[in-house]
Amino acid sequence: NHPTLAYLENTPSSKQFLEEAKTVMPGGVTANIKHFDPHPIIMKHGKGSIVTDVDNNKYIDYLMSYGSLVTGHGHETIKQAINAQMVEDGTWLFGTPHHLEVEFGKRLQNYFPSLERLRYTNSGTEATLLALRLAAAYTGKHKVAKFEGHYHGGYDQMLVSVNPPVDLAGEEHAPNALPESKGMHESHVENTLILPFNDLNACEDLLRAHRNEIGAVMMEPVQGGIIPADVAFMRGLRKVTRELGIILIFDEVKTGFRLGLGGAQTRFDITPDLTTLGKAIGGGFPIGVVGGRKDIMMNSAPSSGADVFDSSQSKYFSAKDVLFHSGTYNGQPMILAAGMAVINILEKEINSVMEKTNRLKEGINHIFDYYGVEGGTVGIGSIFSVTLTNKEKISNYRDLQQTDLATRKEIDFRLLQKGIYTKPMNRFSVSTSHTDEDVDETLIAFDQVFQEVFE
Ligand code: PLP
Repeated sequence: NHPTLAYLENTPSSKQFLEEAKTVMPGGVTANIKHFDPHPIIMKHGKGSIVTDVDNNKYIDYLMSYGSLVTGHGHETIKQAINAQMVEDGTWLFGTPHHLEVEFGKRLQNYFPSLERLRYTNSGTEATLLALRLAAAYTGKHKVAKFEGHYHGGYDQMLVSVNPPVDLAGEEHAPNALPESKGMHESHVENTLILPFNDLNACEDLLRAHRNEIGAVMMEPVQGGIIPADVAFMRGLRKVTRELGIILIFDEVKTGFRLGLGGAQTRFDITPDLTTLGKAIGGGFPIGVVGGRKDIMMNSAPSSGADVFDSSQSKYFSAKDVLFHSGTYNGQPMILAAGMAVINILEKEINSVMEKTNRLKEGINHIFDYYGVEGGTVGIGSIFSVTLTNKEKISNYRDLQQTDLATRKEIDFRLLQKGIYTKPMNRFSVSTSHTDEDVDETLIAFDQVFQEVFE
């Protein structure tokens, strides 16, 4: 019974539930990310910043569903917005255009001026997938470049070198492309060029060498929501992609509304060609957005001949010159109503989220100093991580891999035991619902854990 795993004593029902769940779903989970060993904690209730598990343990939640719950659990304003939408229109899905598609879109355009036109999807994954198709349609080039350690969704083309074993990852300046899943065809690995994050010279060399095949560079402007691209790096990449006729896509699924209202592009004043959004903009409901330059986005407009009736086959087909984009639930009215409510809340409270995050980060950094432990918090905006390292600056995936991951895990398990929840080894996401008292309690728990581990 290692002290690190003391949470096991308090979570027998979670363990039991997982056994039952295994009879329904492989491994008992419906997304592998929900699992951790020896067993995940099964939650049953959430309100504000607090979640309660099936054993009635309460935790201050910093997982916040991987950053999506920027307003916390069960926010009354969001509940009211969804209720009002249901009552007003009397249904939750039309399958026709709906006024909120325009109203929410305009509010997004206000904070992301680069979204000259946009489309809705049901998830971040679908948004990045559509962005790649838009880029390929525009440039006629089908290979894409992405960065080592960056995640854009769980489909084959982007599921390359997201979390590669460092010993197989190759040269730092020209990383290998490695598949992340069984069942992927090698063509996806061949069609995806891996770039080193925050290394402009190396990126420029690789992009120039592949300029005739690469249609798009997709990047998380803040890797994993925690490692920002240097501004000079982003500016350089913007310049070289423009010169080479490569579409620059900022995947802001994680950073949207997490660095303030707007995203990394707003904060750093860089204009990508295309942007993808998701997570926080839906306040916990499934949504994705892809938008950007009008001339690129207009490829998806139906006016150029979509849904042509083919009388010889008695069926409709999409003409080849039209970019296919569809989805039964795209622009689901209740989700857009929730998104509008998220913006209303953040317009009033975003500063206080940032202040609370900063106080938490400063407190944790102070605890590192006090106990003489090398490392501290890494991150900008309302998401951060905790790393143990003597490196001055963490700039990319490989830097992160060199940190002391084992001790970080031990800290996380001990925090669980003290009622601070984030999935072990994950990030901390702060929401409008976290209180000053939550921050105080969390710092007390960190202090106790550091005392246990380092004294
Ligand atoms: N892009 C980024 C940067 C993400 O962090 C994620 C999810 O973690 C995605 C895309 C995929 O979004 P979703 O899980 O909504 O499909």
